[in-house]
Amino acid sequence: MTQSADLLPARRGRVVRPSAAAYKEAAATVRAGGLVAFPTETVYGLGADATNDAAVAAIFEAKDRPRFNPLIVHVRDAAAAARETVFDARAEALAKAFWPGPLSLVLRRAADCRISLLCSAGLETIAIRVPDHPVGQAMLRAAGCPIAAPSANPAGALSPTRAEHVAESLGERVELILDGGPCPVGIESTVLDISGETPVLLRPGGVTVDALTKIIGPIAAADEGTVQASPGMMASHYAPNLPLRLNADSVRADEALLAFGPNPLAGAAATENLSKRGDTKEAAAKLFAALRRLDRPDLSGIAAMPIPEDGLGAAINDRLRRAAAPRESQGNTQAGETETLHDRIAAAVGAKGLVAEPADMAPYLSEPRGLYTGRAQCLVRPANTAEVAEVVRLCAESGTPVVPQGGNTGLVGGGTPFEDGQAVLLNLGRMNKIRAVDAANNTITVEAGCILRQVQDAAAAVDRLFPLSLGAEGSCQIGGNISTNAGGIQVLRYGNMRELVLGLEVVLPDGRVWDGLRALRKDNTGYDLKQLFIGAEGTLGIITAAVLRLFPMPRERATGFAAVRDLDAAVTLLGRLRAAAGDVVTSFELFPRFGIDLALAHVPGTQDPLTDRHDWYVLAELAGSGRGGALADVLETALADAFDEGLVPDATVATSQAQTDAFWRLREGMVEGQKSAGGSIKHDIAVPVSAVPAFLARAMTAVSELIPGIRPVPFGHLGDGNIHFNLSQPEGADRAAYLARWDEVNRVVHDIVAEFSGSISAEHGIGRLKVEENRHYKSAVEIELMQTVKKALDPRGLMNPGKVVPR
Ligand code: FAD
Repeated sequence: MTQSADLLPARRGRVVRPSAAAYKEAAATVRAGGLVAFPTETVYGLGADATNDAAVAAIFEAKDRPRFNPLIVHVRDAAAAARETVFDARAEALAKAFWPGPLSLVLRRAADCRISLLCSAGLETIAIRVPDHPVGQAMLRAAGCPIAAPSANPAGALSPTRAEHVAESLGERVELILDGGPCPVGIESTVLDISGETPVLLRPGGVTVDALTKIIGPIAAADEGTVQASPGMMASHYAPNLPLRLNADSVRADEALLAFGPNPLAGAAATENLSKRGDTKEAAAKLFAALRRLDRPDLSGIAAMPIPEDGLGAAINDRLRRAAAPRESQGNTQAGETETLHDRIAAAVGAKGLVAEPADMAPYLSEPRGLYTGRAQCLVRPANTAEVAEVVRLCAESGTPVVPQGGNTGLVGGGTPFEDGQAVLLNLGRMNKIRAVDAANNTITVEAGCILRQVQDAAAAVDRLFPLSLGAEGSCQIGGNISTNAGGIQVLRYGNMRELVLGLEVVLPDGRVWDGLRALRKDNTGYDLKQLFIGAEGTLGIITAAVLRLFPMPRERATGFAAVRDLDAAVTLLGRLRAAAGDVVTSFELFPRFGIDLALAHVPGTQDPLTDRHDWYVLAELAGSGRGGALADVLETALADAFDEGLVPDATVATSQAQTDAFWRLREGMVEGQKSAGGSIKHDIAVPVSAVPAFLARAMTAVSELIPGIRPVPFGHLGDGNIHFNLSQPEGADRAAYLARWDEVNRVVHDIVAEFSGSISAEHGIGRLKVEENRHYKSAVEIELMQTVKKALDPRGLMNPGKVVPR
């Protein structure tokens, strides 16, 4: 028996042209909790009633989408958005400028917001927009409710820009597909989070950042730690089945080519040109359809030519990067892709060079203070420069971030990967060869993974001094020292790392090697490129080797420990000593009495070199090439003169190595002793040496007013103006409550530093810890210049992203 057509249940996954009847059916389907795909100007959306939990849940199910990934809700107009959200003046200005259109705003939910919490993925915010497509608009009017509508495709796969794409990929998982033709913009909406004080770009898209900035001013970029308040933030997304290779400058015969511009590469098995005339708007509109056509099972991969970042290029590159990313973290894992990157890296570095076992990786994933613990796809330990270059090239090809790491003694989280586990962690520890020592030229050429002490010892073996010296010298590496422009206890005489480097070898973010290993003191042949990498904390490239300056080995050393009348007297004493000793003062360290008390109380083997108690002390050390005790005489005479003048109430000069060691033990003991005094809020600041007394007077008063009973332990390198302005908690205070005020205290202290034109990070760098603090204190021009340099060397932002340079 046959049934007449109108008795059959309507077939799921039907594609229908827009009409009054189609809208009526679509609206009824949505209101009944069903799923309807419809076009917007960006891509096709998979729509459901956003106020219906079960309907929203059906979207996640149909797409196989992770629940932590929020959905964008579509509404008819700004008034409908304001009904559901906290719609402030900034939202109004943006809505006026860009709605209807490809901009989604992340806003706080209104108290009586009707939208399903599933759309918010557990957050207090909702991503919302007004689409600019006649079919989408008609659909919203007909349904009469907000419609949650992610792209109408399985999670992580290519977005659909035509009705047939939806039909191919979702089939019967959707009830009805409204066919409105190709989507004119072709790339998803820009997502801007304005739920906080600073607008944050969560996803580049159809509206450019420049256009947004004109309406609401500066916009911050989301860093790796940002919660997923928007779709499209997963590292792997928008992916074809074939592996995608970015920035291709050649193409294999078994590959497809995603071309851009008038000169496509020759030799591909299939080519799609996104825009022959190099127009990013045209390219965006064609992107997903082109990728779909190239995604052929008979080919080995897709090679994508470089696309400029301007206009919609930023959004296109964002999609391509995510499409090329390893797919492990995806809800619907395609583990084979990750294995491929692992396989390639393993082939490049061999079994010894690749660590993937969590237990073996663990020590490398946390930094010394335990502030951060990250995750990584794997830990790579290459044996030579060629291996580093190959690993970086492979990562660049797959759009994988790389975090360089040395001895992992840095104190600002620079060498720790983010928690998202996307990066490859590259530790230089196996590259620990001394390549050459040239005593006549006073230089040493070393690999980046050499431990600092190893370099000091190699220099000493040829009767030369490598003067960098710091507490972590038994484990920090030269590459890390250069990347942090390390300082330490002899900067006064020899300068910091920047002054000790003559040449560098660097693996650039695309895997090319720059051989700048010149052992020259004079070289005026253009920009001094090595300076870019010194202090860059691994954000511009990976240092693999360096030529370092050596100095004559001092024959004589004189070390004194003196109480000073006050801080002005300490600065005066420094000037006197430098003048008297012919500028061979190598160290001039400051101690407060409280610091000494902490060391004496908590560190075995420490003793007070002087009998009476004083507020401030200094340790002064002179080193030179003479013999016969001349330096000790100079030191004693200078201290005696200072005593006569009332600058120094008491002092002693070491007469044996044991006494010298005891002075230095007290210095190190101060650091150790602070750990026993409860919570410590730390600052690593520098001001001009002449300004140290005034700075300390101001800052100590300010913090005592803020937290009565706070116990300052300002100590460190007075000789170069770098004070570790550490603040122990008031006696008996609650440690956690005290440490919770860290940012507040930092702000008070750093404001005073800024008044003295000082630095908020004199030695330890910016890393992850101080990115925002640095943005706060540096001028917009300076930040912009840093961003420009970063972009020039690392246009895809893969080298230690999220560190140092604010985005
Ligand atoms: P890591 O911590 O591994 O890395 C530091 C940064 O450099 C990261 O951003 C990392 O990505 C990057 N990096 C590392 N190697 C490379 C490379 N080859 N190429 C590109 N980027 C790379 N610092 C001072 O300046 N003065 C001091 O007096 C001082 N005293 C300290 C005392 C102690 C007890 C401790 C624990 C630390 C101290 N530090 C000091 C901080 C730290 O030792 C220095 O910053 C050191 O230079 C870091 O070297 P590292 O090899 O451990 O680098």
